[in-house]
Amino acid sequence: MAGRLAVVGAGYAGMAAAAELAAAGIAVNVFEASRTLGGRARAVEIEGQMLDNGAHIFAGAYRETLRLMKLVDAPADGLLRLPLHLEFPGAFRLHAPRLPAPLHLAWALLTAHGLRWSDRLAAIAFMRRQQRAGFRLETDTTASALIATQPEATRRFLWEPLCLAALNTAPEQASAQIFLNVLRDSLAADRAASDLLLPATDFSSLFPEPAARFVEAHGGTVKRGTRIEHIRRVDAGFSLDDHGAYAQVIVAVAPQHLPALVAELPALAPVVAQLDGYVWEPIVTCYLAYPESVRLPQPMLGVMDGTAQWLFDRSQSHGQPGLMAAAISASRRHREIDPQRLADEIHAEIARIIPNLPAPRWSRVITEKRATFACTPGVPRPLTLTPLPGLFLAGDYVASDYPATIEGAVRSGIAAARLALNQPPRRQP
Ligand SMILES: Cc1cc2nc3c(=O)[nH]c(=O)nc-3n(C[C@H](O)[C@H](O)[C@H](O)COP(=O)(O)OP(=O)(O)OC[C@H]3O[C@@H](n4cnc5c(N)ncnc54)[C@H](O)[C@@H]3O)c2cc1C
Repeated sequence: MAGRLAVVGAGYAGMAAAAELAAAGIAVNVFEASRTLGGRARAVEIEGQMLDNGAHIFAGAYRETLRLMKLVDAPADGLLRLPLHLEFPGAFRLHAPRLPAPLHLAWALLTAHGLRWSDRLAAIAFMRRQQRAGFRLETDTTASALIATQPEATRRFLWEPLCLAALNTAPEQASAQIFLNVLRDSLAADRAASDLLLPATDFSSLFPEPAARFVEAHGGTVKRGTRIEHIRRVDAGFSLDDHGAYAQVIVAVAPQHLPALVAELPALAPVVAQLDGYVWEPIVTCYLAYPESVRLPQPMLGVMDGTAQWLFDRSQSHGQPGLMAAAISASRRHREIDPQRLADEIHAEIARIIPNLPAPRWSRVITEKRATFACTPGVPRPLTLTPLPGLFLAGDYVASDYPATIEGAVRSGIAAARLALNQPPRRQP
């Protein structure tokens, strides 16, 4: 058994860990409960079309995700790279030109429509202040408190939507420090880091499936439809039900699935207790299928004071003509609304942008009730290393600079893989 390594969970964190291990020459065994790879970023088939469980966006700052996608030979056209463009039709428009940093941001802010000169200068001063402070706060607070002195227009069109999109937590509750980390690595980094990367293929094909092929090509296995019920300690390692024993295990399940899985490992009780206090934030996605000629003026648009927060035109990203996706982050209210009413409200919002909009052919609402943990100041996040040598945690909730995002999950998977590689298997006490 010595040296055998398993990963439980084939979301982005688990597949990142497995790909990193495979690249180091390890034949790793991955176990995934679902038949579909990708976890909270996975393909779903609706009305004969490959869609996703929710609309996602990447940023150019997702360096590790992009590196691993290349490593596993993910489809080169899987992401549509666009310069940062934030637009609320008729009210606000910010577009970053292809200029070197920090000119791209300064230019974007100085030419933003919907801001007064004093607003633009205040936004630039805010970024410069944060830069001077190294994007560090002595004491964490809420994102609302951080931007409290910013003019109303910059809060409303810039900082608040960015915070909600990145942290999936309302600015009044969101961690200012984590929000600053995001600004540091995106808007304030090099120009490419602030690019928007819109997925152009479904989320399982984008990385988890090519990663599975990469793992298998390196002698590993990816077992789908295989839920591990319990991890138990055995001589010199861990057993995964009747799927064998492993010297090292990377546990890459969502935080809500961890307690049952490690129930027979008392050493992990403090980690489970940390997760007990988590508050969950939902994300609602509504798909509306229009006749093929229907197009938004941009692939992604913000909605002001609407039911939807962001609209995505999948004809421009995925080559799915007429198909719109509306995303609503961190809203418990929308979780309760009747799906047809929600779709009607969003249709009316799209009709304000596209004159003479015909009725959708069909609509579908997908609610992820536990899309992410609420990223609040001081929320406890467990470490990659557990008290049990050989057992590691990976996932978007594990301690890091990042909120619950694809890049956070991927980085955490890589960190777990590297620790496993550097920690030679040893006998349990
Ligand atoms: C609707 C929605 C929209 C989002 N939008 C964005 C976005 O725009 N940008 C962004 O960066 N992030 C976004 N996120 C967040 C991002 O999707 C997550 O942070 C990320 O996918 C989490 O990955 P993970 O690997 O940590 O966990 P998961 O994806 O939850 O993976 C865990 C895996 O473990 C499996 N599993 C669980 N228990 C077991 C078991 N006992 N045995 C075997 N397998 C098990 C699960 O089936 C799952 O596949 C969004 C999330 C949602 C839901």
